[in-house]
Amino acid sequence: MEFRDLRKQHEILSESIDAAILKAVAGGHYIMGPEVKQLEAELAEYVGVKHCLTCANGTDALTLALKAWGVGPGDAVFVPDFTFFASAEVVAAEGATPVFVDVLEDTFNMDPADLERAILEVRADGNLVPKALVAVDLFGLPADFRRIREIADSYGLLILEDGAQGFGGSMDGRRACSFGDIATTSFFPAKPLGCYGDGGAVFTDNDEWAALMDSYRVHGKGSCKYENVRIGMNSRLDTVQAAVLLEKLKAFKEYELEDVNAAAKAYSDRLSGAVKVPSIPTGFGSSWAQYSILLESSGQRENVQKALKEEGIPTMVYYPLPMHLQKAFEGSEGLRSCPVAESLCRRVLALPMHPYLTEEQVDNVCCKLVAAL
Ligand SMILES: *Cc1c(COP(=O)(O)O)cnc(C)c1O
Repeated sequence: MEFRDLRKQHEILSESIDAAILKAVAGGHYIMGPEVKQLEAELAEYVGVKHCLTCANGTDALTLALKAWGVGPGDAVFVPDFTFFASAEVVAAEGATPVFVDVLEDTFNMDPADLERAILEVRADGNLVPKALVAVDLFGLPADFRRIREIADSYGLLILEDGAQGFGGSMDGRRACSFGDIATTSFFPAKPLGCYGDGGAVFTDNDEWAALMDSYRVHGKGSCKYENVRIGMNSRLDTVQAAVLLEKLKAFKEYELEDVNAAAKAYSDRLSGAVKVPSIPTGFGSSWAQYSILLESSGQRENVQKALKEEGIPTMVYYPLPMHLQKAFEGSEGLRSCPVAESLCRRVLALPMHPYLTEEQVDNVCCKLVAAL
């Protein structure tokens, strides 16, 4: 079986996707063609924000936001210690300092109490100016934006919501990618809404930031493409990818999000009691970019992973190393002790997860997993 079965999805959607690709190719507008504009409008409407701008990938999307805010040397940006590297990489790449914040064992997301501690530490040190925070919607579940928003407001920080894995998630009736002052997502194939290559997007209600990011994504363009008013990037979405995404978005809205939630419920019904299953707080909804269980120790995880592999069941460890132990950040000023993140890295295990999992497949994974324990 596949960890995330993208071929099965294509088989089911192939008629409409293949036709959309051919139409985009025949249209001849390969970069930022009409499908791109249509996709941006549909995504903004789905998420419930004023502006959506697509770009080349989810990492660039984060970078565009930081550039729009002028984040740079001397700025502290608070980032969860347990995330994909890009969430922190982009901060350092702009010359700012990522300050790592521990996460909650129950949700895998940023711990608001530790965020506040980290802000106070940075203030007391006086070397860096607290400027923004990156709140990651890890594994499809929005971060605790109720408390994070309060803290950000009381300390004057901007919120960048890294919704690369969060697209389709929700909190209090609002959709993921609408909680940050700027939010981002990724259309990397294995994300909740993926294309057939790289892609990403930024979301905001702020007109000024939207205009700035629109400029940064095309070489810092001014009133036209050949007037350049700032140093920018080349970060656009291909028309063919937008055509694929328009078709996939329909399936995502019509049934994929519902089906992936049904698969998660089937896993949790079978596994709770045997292992620690993911918990979704009241008022929240997940798009299940990953279904991650927690084992008791790294030894137990190794045994389970090996036993499942022998049964032809792939599993993944997201993530084996917390940010503060990554070699790339060695000696950085923003390193803090994050014991929960370290513990998660030793014990977390992601099971096969996607909207096209059958009941029999979930059953089979659960049987073999319970036997391996
Ligand atoms: C995938 C991912 C990114 C980067 O997205 P790309 O499209 O691969 O550049 C950023 N943050 C998180 C949390 C991710 O999972």
